[in-house]
Parts: sequence; C-alpha cells; structure tokens
Amino acid sequence: MSVAPQRIAVLGATGSIGGSALDVIARHPDRYRASVLAAHRNADALAGLCARFRPDLAIIADPALQTALARRLAELGARCEIAAGPEALEQAAGGTLCDTVLAAVVGAAGLRSTLAAARAGKRLLLANKESAVCAGPLLQAALDAGGGDLLPVDSEHNALFQCLPGGRPPALAAAGVRRLLLTASGGPFRGRSRRDLAAVTPAQACAHPNWVMGRKISVDSATLMNKGLEVIEACVLFGATPAQIEVLVHPQSLVHALVEYVDGAVLAELGHPDMRTALAYALAWPERTGSGVPFLDLAARGRLEFEVPDRHTFRCLDLAYQALRAGGDAPALLNAANEVAVEAFLAGSLPFLAIADLIETLLAALPPQPVCDVETLIHRDLTARAKARAMLARMCC
Ligand code: MG
Repeated sequence: MSVAPQRIAVLGATGSIGGSALDVIARHPDRYRASVLAAHRNADALAGLCARFRPDLAIIADPALQTALARRLAELGARCEIAAGPEALEQAAGGTLCDTVLAAVVGAAGLRSTLAAARAGKRLLLANKESAVCAGPLLQAALDAGGGDLLPVDSEHNALFQCLPGGRPPALAAAGVRRLLLTASGGPFRGRSRRDLAAVTPAQACAHPNWVMGRKISVDSATLMNKGLEVIEACVLFGATPAQIEVLVHPQSLVHALVEYVDGAVLAELGHPDMRTALAYALAWPERTGSGVPFLDLAARGRLEFEVPDRHTFRCLDLAYQALRAGGDAPALLNAANEVAVEAFLAGSLPFLAIADLIETLLAALPPQPVCDVETLIHRDLTARAKARAMLARMCC
C-alpha cells in the first residue's frame, strides 16, 4: 500500500535549519514533500528553492518583496501560489496545505505561526526556541487544544526526547528522571577571561568551533545565552523545574544531552554536530530514516571531555536562570533584550560583555507579568525592545 507523502511547511526555508531540513526531505521523496516554503527577506533564495522543490505555496514575510519573488519565480519557470506578510505565515501554518510544520523562523517573529500550527493539531517540529521560551504556557495550551505532536528540533532537546521514555513523558519524576543535562560546546570563547573578551568582534563571535549556524544564534552560543534559552525551553517542553536542569560544557559537541535517572543510569544521545540527525528523527518519529549524516567513529575521535560552565565570564547563563525563576513573562523580556543587544553587537555598537549588562538592566527595570495571551505578550515584547534600545542609546553615548 502506498501512503501519500507527509506534506511539510518549512517556515524559515532559506535559513540554516531550513536548508538542513530540505536536504533530508530531498533524500526521501516517497515520504516527504515540501508543500509550503517561507522565507523572511531572501526572495532570490526562496525562488531557487521553489524551482527545486515545487511547493504549492511560497511565502515571503516582508510584503515589500512579493513582486520581486513573483518576478524571480517567473524567470525560473517555477509555478506556485505566492503570499506575503506575517499573516500569510500564520494562515499557512494552520491551513490545509500541510500536515507538518517546521517552525524554523528566527526569533520572536516565529511566535504566531508556531502557535497557529499547534492549535491546528499539526505535527509541529519546533526549531524556533523563542516560542517555547517566550510563550511557554500559550504553546502548551495550543498543543492541548490541537492535540498534535510536538517534536523538538533543537539538538539538545531532540536528544532529550530520544533519551526520555515516550519522548515527552507526562511527569519526569514518575518516569524516574532525576536531572536533565544539556551540553554546551562553550562556543568560540571557551577558556577566555572577561579581560580577553573586552574587545572581541562579531566575526570572532560568529566563528563557532563545531556547528555552522546563523549569526544571531552564533553570538548566543558565544555568550552562552543560547544555552540559557535552551534551559528555559527544556523546562517548557519537558515540564522540568530549573533545579532539574544542568548545563555541562562539552567541547567536542558529540554528546548533545543526557538524562540522569534515579537508579544512577545516565542515557545520552551522541552524534556528529549536524542538525540533519535531529530533523530526520523529528520528521520520521517514531520511525527512523537516513539523514545523510556520516556515522560516528568514536575511536577516531578519541576523547569526550566535560567541564562546568564559567558563569562569571559568561553571565548570560545565570540571567536566563534568573528569568526562569522570576516566572511570568520574564523569559520573554530576557529574549527581547538579548535580541536588541545581539543586534547592536553585530552592528558594532555594543561591546561583547555589555550584552549581559543590557539584559540585566532591562530585567531589573521591568518586573514580570503573567503570560495571558499572545497580544499582551507581543506588546510586552515590543515594550521591552523599546526600553532596551533606549538603554542602549544611553550606554553607547
Ligand atoms: Mg541547541
């Protein structure tokens, strides 16, 4: 009996995760079809992907680029529907053209489409960690209402999903889990002191030793904020308390996460630092398929090292735990301040170490409020960004 291929909406198709997902999808044309492709602003790259994958719908998030996309698609002879704007993204995520949504839009911009997919009961492959970080209670409510599965794509969370019974057990304690351990490569500045980091450049921060990633997440990896956001994400996705989650620096990036059980057993997921393993697993779960990732030769790699993170130099990790313990929308405020700070750092207008300072000042200035609905959350996100930019202007003068 032949089964129709799973129809996948790839939101964030021209990004790093989107590219890896399309690579896996292209390996299994009998199982998967990219039916919706969406990009933020790169109309040329999106048109190229449409010519190759022949989706039913192409979406460009910036409406000003709709004409450019249409022109490029015509030049390439690619025929598909075109839509533009954030509403189009949200509609497609919950619409009839897809069974599965890969939420790989970068930043808080991915929030509404992720929630729409969850509410519609789509199989949700979550790579947009901000949806869990900023809107954890809303995401859970949307999943409960839609009744679909959530498959984490973030490599650490995908690893936890692989090491936990049933992927996302209803209660960690009942499953015999003592702790969840997230590994961090330590980024390009592991082992450096605060003094060493005073004058580092965006290019240095983006030179990640193991993973090839976008610029924003590369800086987050260098500050350890990426790990901080992942701690929050793990609490949301697995119902953990902050005390149940620890971060372990592991420079080889071969162990992605570990689950410690009450009997002393520790289960870990290992693999090359290549997102295609997590994506192939999330796409095929509960089955497994090839991903194109080379098999791991542990003897050739020789050693696996672990150490505790340097919380004094990389203050963003503790700021994330602080926001998590503060509760309410504090993680969303943390995320907003971080996005503003990283943008300023990449633009050359904020020193690397001041990223944490800006976030800390913002968190102190805005007491957390409960997360009630997406409109309030987005309003708070905008307020936090405006306040962070005002603080930035004062810091930089
Ligand atoms: Mg990760």
